[in-house]
Amino acid sequence: MPDRMELTFTPEDRYARLRLISWWDQDLLRAAKVLVVGAGTLGNEILKNLALLGVGHIFLVDMDRVELSNLSRAVLFRATDEGKFKAKVAAVRLREINPELEVVPIVGNINFEVGLGLFRHVDVVIGGVDNREARMAINRRCWLTNTPWIDGAIEALSGVARVFLPPEGPCYECTMTAEDYRLVNLRRSCALLSKEEMLSGKTPTTPTTSAVIAGIAVQEAVKLLHRKKEPALPVLAGKGFVFNGLTHDSYVVTYQEREDCYAHEKIERLVELPGFTAAGTTWRQLLARVRAEMGAEAIVELLNDLVYRLVCAHCGKEEDYLGNLAQLSASAAVCPVCGQVRQVVFTHQITGDEPFLDYTLRSTGVAPWEILAGQAGAERIYFELSGDRMWSGKEGANAH
Ligand SMILES: [Zn+2]
Ligand SMILES: [Zn+2]
Repeated sequence: MPDRMELTFTPEDRYARLRLISWWDQDLLRAAKVLVVGAGTLGNEILKNLALLGVGHIFLVDMDRVELSNLSRAVLFRATDEGKFKAKVAAVRLREINPELEVVPIVGNINFEVGLGLFRHVDVVIGGVDNREARMAINRRCWLTNTPWIDGAIEALSGVARVFLPPEGPCYECTMTAEDYRLVNLRRSCALLSKEEMLSGKTPTTPTTSAVIAGIAVQEAVKLLHRKKEPALPVLAGKGFVFNGLTHDSYVVTYQEREDCYAHEKIERLVELPGFTAAGTTWRQLLARVRAEMGAEAIVELLNDLVYRLVCAHCGKEEDYLGNLAQLSASAAVCPVCGQVRQVVFTHQITGDEPFLDYTLRSTGVAPWEILAGQAGAERIYFELSGDRMWSGKEGANAH
């Protein structure tokens, strides 16, 4: 009966079955902004679910390229994608699944190339990463910007999905044990010596457990996005859904907030700087703006340690170098003259005496749309490089 078909096929027909859920609000999902970190095994399932559900604005961050071994676990990749950036391939496939979406791929490391402004901009962050360092980075940024985040983790047939809801309750670091911190610090202290080898550690993962954990994670995201509406939906705030794929046992664990946890800092006062961008602003300009607001004694505090000189104690050779400490490779630390490991001179503050004040923030490793802290005595005000807002707001306009 063609007449009847015409009546039922409205442009919104794609979501008709979802809307049958009494509390479902498709317009809310269409307006939602979600940041997904990782486009690997978990990320693929997370992204696929978000696209099917019509979550309208998806930012996805991943630094890796597609390998053939991904094809057994990644529904968005094809053999012909080998060697291409996962974030870019995934973005294309998501728009095939749902052409209504805005998808912004960001090729880069979550620690250094995604500004806090994006965290502040989105409604929820979903992590599909495979290491503690990335989780700690996401967690700090979400707490600073008061953004809920959901962490998925899988290994072989088991996994966990947990929800952290700042500013209340436990954060990811609250769940870390002394042994977890020891392993993180071990990796950090070895960073200059064998970072390349350490990062090559691979976790066994399956598409089946990934589907379970990503399903829970995205389901929590959907409920979180609805949380300002009535009725209030239950979410796993400060809790984890633990799944054992061998026995199919599952249970919910409640985490405790740790009073001595360092990760609960939050942005109390923020100044948006619409004319400032990471690539177009020098440290001198930013410091002047911060001092105009906070006084002549104010300094800028950095999120990441900034290396600005490499010094060889053996032969005396000095070299200017600008970049994040954690991104310094083992080979860059070696003296080109005598082959010894050089001393690394770095800072976590900009006081006005630095030799690199006329370099742009970006050229010293600051992420686009970053938020930096100005400090004067006990007063702290955060400053956002709001001129970079468009960087992540327009398709294909990101810096990579
Ligand atoms: Zn904590
Ligand atoms: Zn030397």
